[in-house]
Amino acid sequence: MSDASMGILYVVATPIGNLEDLSARAIRLLGEVALIAAEDTRHSARLLRHLGLSVPMLSLHEHNESARVDQLAERLAAGVDIALISDAGTPLISDPGFVLVRELRRRGHRIVPVPGPCALVAALSAGGLPTDRFLFSGFLPAKGSARRARLEALADHAETLVFYESPHRILATLKDLGTTLGDRDLVLGRELTKTFETFLEGTAAQLLARMEEDPDQARGEFVIMVAGIPKADAPDGATVEADALLGALLAEAVGIKQAAAVTSRVLGGSKKAWYARAQTLKDAQRD
Ligand code: SAM
Repeated sequence: MSDASMGILYVVATPIGNLEDLSARAIRLLGEVALIAAEDTRHSARLLRHLGLSVPMLSLHEHNESARVDQLAERLAAGVDIALISDAGTPLISDPGFVLVRELRRRGHRIVPVPGPCALVAALSAGGLPTDRFLFSGFLPAKGSARRARLEALADHAETLVFYESPHRILATLKDLGTTLGDRDLVLGRELTKTFETFLEGTAAQLLARMEEDPDQARGEFVIMVAGIPKADAPDGATVEADALLGALLAEAVGIKQAAAVTSRVLGGSKKAWYARAQTLKDAQRD
């Protein structure tokens, strides 16, 4: 149903601290659209003032997002171009916009990304942990028991784990990271692109000690990056040889559990991790 007479929804990334990070394309489009849907219009008014723009704005946040869909779809159908922005960074990434984008896409509207700042990408790009594969898990639950359960569910991942965290919970989260994931390498990206930008590296216990020593280290906005499960335990360090052994055992109709146990005995690493790898191989065999 998308045609040239219809408006476009531009999903525009805005700075996470440093205003110079706003792209030339983002600046041009924010000046060209007829309407800006913003998470917090008062917050975004400051950005527009900085750019010398006065474009009508409409709030779009988690409490009114569904209700706004029809209204914005009508404007797009009438040929109005709209920009979607959040308070900082890329909309939809731990920010509102998903419901709108999914629904407009279903209805055939044209949606164009205008990429730019995103805290998790900035943190990974300079943090020094592996970036070839990572698992972004947004904000951890606020309640301690739920937070620990989420971390335990992620404990066997070989990918770098990435979380967002606020200063209110950084200490509690670091404690839980220590109890659930042990002595893994962590990197905290704090206040990225801002005056007090800092990268701290160490185990959860070391980072907690550092924050006790210097409480300023616990202030500001954080991206937490955690090394994936150590290679010795991870079947992802797995070689062709390991896959061949597992594959051969499975082909002999040995159960997944026994195949994992034998592989762990022969090659080392945890049974749990080999179990997951064997399951993947079995699923692949089925496909
Ligand atoms: N949409 C944003 C993005 O693209 O990164 C994220 C929005 S989310 C509501 C806010 C969280 O992102 C913060 O609590 C923090 O964890 C992270 N964050 C945002 N700006 C940051 C910065 N300058 N330095 C470190 N973390 C930041």
